[in-house]
This record gives sequence, C-alpha cells and structure tokens, in this order.
Amino acid sequence: MQRLGEKYQSVEAFGWAARDSSGHLSPFVFSRRETGEEEMRVKVLYCGVCHSDLHCLKNEWHSSIYPLVPGHEIVGEVTEIGRRVSKFSIGDKIGVGCIVDSCRACESCREDQENYCTKSVATYNGVHYDGTVNYGGYSDHIVVDERYAVKIPHTLPLASAAPLLCAGISMYSPMKYFGLAGPGKHIGIVGLGGLGHIGVRFAKAFGSKVTVVSSTAGKSKDALEIFGADGFLVSTDEDQMQAAMGTMDGIIDTVSASHPILPLIGLLKPSGKLVLLGATEKPFDLHAFSLILGRKSIAGSAIGGIKETQEMINFAAEHGIKAEIETISMEYVNTAMDRLAKGDVRYRFVIDIANTLAVTRS
Ligand code: NAP
Ligand code: ZN
Repeated sequence: MQRLGEKYQSVEAFGWAARDSSGHLSPFVFSRRETGEEEMRVKVLYCGVCHSDLHCLKNEWHSSIYPLVPGHEIVGEVTEIGRRVSKFSIGDKIGVGCIVDSCRACESCREDQENYCTKSVATYNGVHYDGTVNYGGYSDHIVVDERYAVKIPHTLPLASAAPLLCAGISMYSPMKYFGLAGPGKHIGIVGLGGLGHIGVRFAKAFGSKVTVVSSTAGKSKDALEIFGADGFLVSTDEDQMQAAMGTMDGIIDTVSASHPILPLIGLLKPSGKLVLLGATEKPFDLHAFSLILGRKSIAGSAIGGIKETQEMINFAAEHGIKAEIETISMEYVNTAMDRLAKGDVRYRFVIDIANTLAVTRS
C-alpha cells in the first residue's frame, strides 16, 4: 500500500539501514521528498553515534520501524532551499538534532519546547505528518523544515560539533531548567559516556562544581584532567560513595543500562534532584523514604527545544566546548556499535559521512 506522502518521495537517497533487531547496518537506497517551500535539502557531512541509535537498532524500546536509518546528531551543508526559507542560505553549515517537526500549536510548541510536543516527529524512526517514515543522518542528505535546524557557528569544528545536537542539548537543558548551572551548585554526572563527558564541559563552563560518578575507575584521569571535573567517584566503591553522601544539589544520570538509583539519591543534599536521562527499559527500585526524608525529587528530561539548541550551540562556540570524538568511516559503523555496547568509546563516535559513505555504494 502506498502511504500518503510517498508520491512526493522522488529524490534518491543513500544511507545505511538495519533491516531487523539484529541491528546490523548495511547499504540502503531509498527516497526523500522534494524540498518544500519552507524546507532545505542538506548534504550530511558528519553524524554522531548516540546510544539511542543503538537502543533503536536493537529494538530495545520496542518501537523500531525497519528498515531503520539512524542518526540524529547531524551536521551538514545546505544545498537547496525552498522559496520561503528566510533563516538559511545555500552553503550554510547547519545542525539537525532529534526532532524534525512538531504540531507548532500546542503549549509546548508555543513555548519553544517542541521537544515536549506530544506530536513531535523524530528525525528517524518517526512517522512524518505525510505518513512517511523518517530516515536519519547515516545517509547522504536529508530534507528539513528550516524551523527545526540550527546554525553552526564558524568557530566550531564541524565533526566535534555534531554530538552537541543530541548529547550537548540533552545535558545543557536540564542543568539550566533544574537550576544547577552556576557557581555554588554541585552537580553529579553519572556515566562518563557521550552525554556525560559533554555535560562535564558545560557544567564547568557554567561555573558549577562537578563530580563524575562512574562505574569505570579507569576514566578518572580523563574526567579530572581532560574534562576538568572537580571530583570522581567510583559508583561501586561504597566508601567513596558513603563519604560523598548529601553533598550534591542535583545529579544528571546518563547511564544507558539498568543500575541502582538509591545510592545516587543518597548523594543528594536535602531538596536535591535526580534527573534521569538514560533511557533504560527496566523500572527502577525505589523506596519512598529515600525521597521523603530530604524532600528530594526524581525527574526526567528529553533533549531541548530548537531555540535552546541554538542557544546551547552558541554557548559552546563561545566557551570552546566540543565533544571528544573518534571519527570513523561508514564501513566501520557495525564495529563501532559493538564497541559502544561494551562501553569501549572515548567518548563519541562521529561518522565522516561526506568522505566515506558514497564509496560503500556498489
Ligand atoms: P554512552 O556513550 O554509551 O554512555 C553511557 C555511560 O553509562 C557509559 O559510558 C558508562 O559510563 C555508563 N554505563 C553503561 N552501562 C552501565 C552499567 N551497566 N552500569 C553502570 N554504568 C553504565 O551513551 P550516551 O550516548 O551517553 O547515552 C546515554 C543514555 O542516555 C542512553 O540510554 C541514551 O538513549 C540516553 N539519551 C537520553 C537523552 C535524553 O534527552 N533524555 C538524549 C540522548 C541519549 P561509566 O563507564 O562512566 O560508568
Ligand atoms: Zn541521541
């Protein structure tokens, strides 16, 4: 059956897709729509590899639509614009993150928080309003409405800016919203991975005190010396955890797998907040008293709105914040996913799409 929008999908595109929950990626030819009046066609230059890509490839959230082309940390160059595009010009370097549309009318949309619009459309594995399934940035080009793209300042290196589009905004937004960004605030960042390491850099730029809580003792040197954290706790070391009880104003938890949260709640000061970002499938073990005694709260946070994403990118450019990356070729992506699953990445893979994708098309 032809979906509503498929007749407009007339421009050939090429990327890598998984066909099933093995998550194995391989070359995939598909089509994208014509550039609409308020849209841009964007040549993908770089795309970051987020742990969410891995969750989706393996259908760990039970919502994957195959074939699935992941990628929502996209940096690209505008190659075509619709006649009503006003913010961007051909040749501009732009970023596209996790959403490419939203209803534009609800309270969240009106307040520049499209990320909380219940009808927002995901960059990949989302169904567009025209009925077609979206494909992400592990591909040669994308088409995006100008409202859902941001400008990449000239001073940011393009490859290491890519992870800011998801990892960066996902850390920046809750630090600001939950009042943790600034001198006098002590933030705990749990999990020193793609999100975590960028979070340390933002927190330091805000002037907050930062302690990394990690399951990997060997990351201590990187946390303290490369990313500038003020402290480092090994989450399995009971003595270290005990000594840090009641010291943090807020904790941002980026762990991608099931893990105990009661010890983390213990690290909070009275009225402290534990903000969950890691999208683990299994429910947590929680005792009411751990929150009641100390008026503590647990919250969640999902990426950020487009306006705030632009603000975050500008802030990153101003403060020289970028991701610590390992640039990889498209051919390497399955190995990269295996390594990401094992926690073997320091600290974000970024695919050099422009230079390595086309050669994989035979
Ligand atoms: P990542 O690079 O794989 O980092 C996750 C880190 O969690 C690892 O480096 C590791 O840090 C820690 N970890 C992993 N398994 C663990 C375990 N079993 N026990 C304890 N710690 C463990 O992943 P990411 O790209 O940063 O994404 C992290 C999570 O956030 C994913 O679930 C992703 O889907 C989600 N996410 C959420 C949002 C949002 O807006 N809410 C946005 C993007 C991603 P240590 O070695 O330091 O312990
Ligand atoms: Zn992501």
